[in-house]
Amino acid sequence: MRFRFAPSPTGNLHIGSVRTALFNWVYAKHTGGTLILRIEDTDLQRSKPEFEVNILEGLKWLGLDADEGPENPGAVGPYRQSERIDNGTYQRCAEQLIESGHAYYCFATEAELTAEREAAEKAGKPYVYSGASLKLTKDEVAANIAAGLPKTIRLRVPVNRGEIVIQDQVRGEIRFDSALLGDFIIIKSDGSAAYNFAVVVDDIEMKVTHIVRGEDHISNTPRQVLVYEAFSADVPYFAHLPIILGPDKSKLSKRHGAQSVTEYKEAGFLPEAIINYLSLLGWTPADGVEFMDRDALVQKFDVTRISKSGAVFDHQKLVWMNGQYIRKMTHDAFVAAVTPFLSEDSRVLLSGYSHDSQKIVFEMVQESVALLPDINTALEVFSQDGSAFNARLSGLSFHADMADVLRLFLDKILVLTDWSESGIDALIESILTQTGLGKGKVLKPIRMATTGLGSGPHLPALISLLGQTIVGERVSHVLDSQLS
Ligand code: GLU
Repeated sequence: MRFRFAPSPTGNLHIGSVRTALFNWVYAKHTGGTLILRIEDTDLQRSKPEFEVNILEGLKWLGLDADEGPENPGAVGPYRQSERIDNGTYQRCAEQLIESGHAYYCFATEAELTAEREAAEKAGKPYVYSGASLKLTKDEVAANIAAGLPKTIRLRVPVNRGEIVIQDQVRGEIRFDSALLGDFIIIKSDGSAAYNFAVVVDDIEMKVTHIVRGEDHISNTPRQVLVYEAFSADVPYFAHLPIILGPDKSKLSKRHGAQSVTEYKEAGFLPEAIINYLSLLGWTPADGVEFMDRDALVQKFDVTRISKSGAVFDHQKLVWMNGQYIRKMTHDAFVAAVTPFLSEDSRVLLSGYSHDSQKIVFEMVQESVALLPDINTALEVFSQDGSAFNARLSGLSFHADMADVLRLFLDKILVLTDWSESGIDALIESILTQTGLGKGKVLKPIRMATTGLGSGPHLPALISLLGQTIVGERVSHVLDSQLS
């Protein structure tokens, strides 16, 4: 089984295209098939080398490796359509179809075509090309070519071809009326290949057996089937993936904040989370378990479970899933992943801690990071910087009844010898017993007075890390400035 992902390098790799790449990749892996990457750069105006680089890098970052492609060509190259234009593939194939009677030169002028179109409109009929050029003799065609008349090559839709029926692996049977297609252009007047022709020539030459792509390509399929038939080639299996929708149920677009893979990477998403999330856009595993690493996904994949109805892209769910993947990372992987996102302030903050303490700090923040840059806000609470602490105090409201707890806490920490997490824990316990107050009434003022924040990670561990001097100074300062 041979699959292909065929992006056009007319923009950066888009999250919607990644879903198509992923489904091809996972289908190929599941079946032990081969995945081909083909760059469809026939639109010479809009295709840019930097977009191709972006697509290749994005796929690499996501781990969606192709078995054959421009960088690792197999035997059926070239893997860029522009190179297939250059080596004359499309022209040669079109001429082959003229030879076999499946295509013909068309010399209709713009004016003639417009007249035909207007006549059809008047008669209230759908417009198809009349096929006037078909009536030309061989000699007339040769004379027109010799005279340099503008020409196109059209595929001849067999008369009485009737319905074109495809068995789509997602949508089941889809039927098209061939009479509505009309003989269509396969080589344009400038000599370039029409899109529906180039794609099929490539897919035949590259021996593609399975075409998995977005449903926006369904309307291209009947013409493509006719091209296969003209070449007497086997028509591949098709699987048209459901459209991706924004939260308002319209097609996902920039308007919804839909972004390129580069932007997702910069925003601090993990490739694993993106892959897992995108696999659920239009598909669910039979066991309903949504968390799947790559291996599980490959193993569970089942093309018959792809849904026909549009899949809504839920950004919040992706963020949440990213956080879940971050939680599951090993310590070393987490540190390696967040390090490039550390701000200068965070680097300074961390340098105030020993290597062992830094390890604890990272462990303590890991579960509060959903996107990698969240590390910077999560670290703030560990800041040993006095002025930043003082600035935070203005955002808190201390009540007079907090003073007793804080005074007691201060007395105790000044003489505390076991400054470990469990030592602090025991100290807090002793305040609870001594005062008879509830946990909240004790922990809240201590948290506020030691961190300058209303919430944060496990308090005894945090106090232990900040250290006796800083904690002592902070609590005294709060008692003096806020509660005297
Ligand atoms: N190049 C087309 C695109 O980027 C894909 C063509 C196909 O999959 O048949 O949408």
